[in-house]
Amino acid sequence: MTAWAEVIGDPVAHSLSPVIHRFWLDALKLPGAYHATAVGAGDLASFLDERRKDPDWRGCNVTMPHKQAVLALAEDRGGLRDSIGAANTLFRADDGALVATNTDAAGFYEPIADADLAGRTVTVAGAGGAARAVLFALRQMGVGEVVLLNRTPLKAAALLHHFGLKGRVLGLDAVPPPSALIVNASALGMAGQPDWRPDLSQQDDGCIVYDLVYHPLETALLQTAAEAELATVDGLDMLIGQARVAFELFFGQAPPEEGDEALRARLVA
Ligand code: NAP
Repeated sequence: MTAWAEVIGDPVAHSLSPVIHRFWLDALKLPGAYHATAVGAGDLASFLDERRKDPDWRGCNVTMPHKQAVLALAEDRGGLRDSIGAANTLFRADDGALVATNTDAAGFYEPIADADLAGRTVTVAGAGGAARAVLFALRQMGVGEVVLLNRTPLKAAALLHHFGLKGRVLGLDAVPPPSALIVNASALGMAGQPDWRPDLSQQDDGCIVYDLVYHPLETALLQTAAEAELATVDGLDMLIGQARVAFELFFGQAPPEEGDEALRARLVA
């Protein structure tokens, strides 16, 4: 009997989750396994029905296009439907139920856990799925004003309203106002997408610039921030952080605290 988990999506071959989870299984010398499985949109329900029958299957990470659909097929004990609106992990609860959760918000939070953002202004670019997890976490952190930059302003305004955040909506070409934190949760900067190179001249040296994009790892945004001598956080920190929470849910042990540098080296290899 070997506990195992997987990442499901379509496409899924590009996912870095197997590298991360196998790295920790090896580091802890656990006998578990972790796979990547392509599951088409029309096959999701029957796929999960099959997996439920396997007592060794501990759950799965969920990527496009299933992040919303899984909410209807698993228990939503954390009220995700009404908050982030998407799940990225399914796991077995102690009572055997298959439960949906979203570890992106915790993964986003982990690298900035020591930052005191209470009552502070933050700027966020993007209003898609990742931005929802970011705004959820920022609300928990008690931020003040959120300046939300997006290509589609109405979508951004609806998100601010949904999360009950005080703020305003601007275009992606706006100059970010003085902010404790600037986050790129948009697709800008991803391979194949235009760069986002905002004017950072209004930021003081306490501003943290955080890019969720991890392909490429060194984005135009992070280069601009480094040139302005601002602190930076890259997308691998969040990717590893969200996987850390999922690993413990699957395999019942926290990943080792040490070894992140070796893991990062493997992920960029
Ligand atoms: P998504 O739901 O598709 O949202 C994409 C966002 O980017 C939307 O706000 C969209 O604007 C905007 N956008 C897309 N193409 C654009 C363009 N050409 N010009 C201007 N804006 C554009 O995607 P997502 O899931 O939120 O992912 C966003 C990014 O976060 C991706 O790079 C993803 O890899 C990254 N991410 C990283 C992690 C991590 O662990 N590091 C986790 C999740 C996501 P509209 O609203 O106008 O369409």
